[in-house]
Amino acid sequence: MSDGRLVVVSNRLPIGPNPSGGLVVALTDAFGDEGGLWVGTSGRVTTEPSGKFTHHDGLRFERLSFDLTLRQHENYYLGYSNSVLWPLFHGRADLMEIKSEFLDDYLAVNRHLAQMLASVVQRDDVIWVQDYQLLALAEALRDMGVNNRIGFFLHIPFPTLYDIKALPNSEAFISWLASFDLIGLQAQRDVARLLEAFRSRKDAEFLPDGAIRFGEHRVEARNFPVGIDAAAFAREAVAATKARPGVSLEPGERLIIGVDRLDYSKGIPNRFKAFARLLEKRETLSGQVTLLQIAPPTREEVAAYQDIRAELEQLSGQINGRYADLTWTPIRYIHRAVPRARLAGLYRQAAIGLVTPLADGMNLVAKEYVAAQDPEDPGVLVLSSFAGAAEQMEDALIVNPFDLDEVADAMARALEMPLGERKARHGRLMQGLLEQDVTWWSRSFLATLRGVPRGLA
Ligand code: UDP
Repeated sequence: MSDGRLVVVSNRLPIGPNPSGGLVVALTDAFGDEGGLWVGTSGRVTTEPSGKFTHHDGLRFERLSFDLTLRQHENYYLGYSNSVLWPLFHGRADLMEIKSEFLDDYLAVNRHLAQMLASVVQRDDVIWVQDYQLLALAEALRDMGVNNRIGFFLHIPFPTLYDIKALPNSEAFISWLASFDLIGLQAQRDVARLLEAFRSRKDAEFLPDGAIRFGEHRVEARNFPVGIDAAAFAREAVAATKARPGVSLEPGERLIIGVDRLDYSKGIPNRFKAFARLLEKRETLSGQVTLLQIAPPTREEVAAYQDIRAELEQLSGQINGRYADLTWTPIRYIHRAVPRARLAGLYRQAAIGLVTPLADGMNLVAKEYVAAQDPEDPGVLVLSSFAGAAEQMEDALIVNPFDLDEVADAMARALEMPLGERKARHGRLMQGLLEQDVTWWSRSFLATLRGVPRGLA
């Protein structure tokens, strides 16, 4: 077992005196009292590449940032990360935009970061790389002679073998992965896909302990489903409800809530259509149920995100035009970010949490919705089987988001579900969230990483 410092590397460094968010909470805990390093981009775009890191003080661990040039931002971040890897890993090869300069700059940024990292990493450090923007980092570090334990966590789905073939550099993708010692994935489905990808390679050997040998590398893959701080979120929901009123509703009217970045992977158009199907099937629900969809903008420079925005605006207009009356607007669509503390109260007010991605690594909104409920009168989670969360949250109403009737019927069932069943389902879901919370996630990943054999020796 190695007990060296923890070095976290993520695309974006949390900057500022009080950075928040699930990953920050989890990793602050993981750094413990010994501290460590967190390295990532500053969020600034400059004309010259950063030659060295900028230090940020003020937390228990040290933070080091570097700037991207405009060209790197366009090719590494918007290009290869978000116009190739993101759509492909979410099963949307049709939305990929492949340009050779995207990959060139992706590799250049990964290499440049590896170079800067190599000069600050100490012999016993364990390095934990986060997410798809940095897939090539371990290979670059190995090339520079860094022999430390390096773990990787993929927050988004792992692609199918079929999709990997659509990558212009699918051969290199496998050796990027093999350069890590441990790969953490969200769900068992992702582990199965990764193993299949290696199995398709004649030069990969499966070792008796379950690890994979690839060239001179040894890599293990396991699922570590990311959690939330469920206990704290439940308290936040109570506080939010006391602090301010929720959405104004007519007497007897019930709320369905959807919360997603406006991303094509989240299945929001299907969700709107399924809601319209519900209104069509159950005329008595007219004026009785409202869908509140919060969908803040994201990656607006990428064309596919402009298309989904236009589609949703048209769809919500169409559905409201058809069903609204003087006192009722069936879909309230908010294209703006809402702070998490405020979301907590809105989740608690909603009778249904409607989470219908077509592909999703985990989906934390599903977990937050459950944690925010009143245990004495909880709402019901309707959850897509394509969210990583579905593997853990069997007590949700699990649906196929492509089947609009199935989603509409699940909403109807949720609205009619007796209190006893709602409480029983919520109790079991909440217990799961408390047992496998975000601290459990980071601790179990790190304990495994510190214990894996380094290399083949
Ligand atoms: N979120 C937020 N404000 C919003 C929309 C989302 O704070 O207006 C938060 C939400 O509470 C959750 C996260 O953003 O913690 C979204 O995580 P998820 O895993 O559901 O999806 P991702 O955006 O990572 O694909």
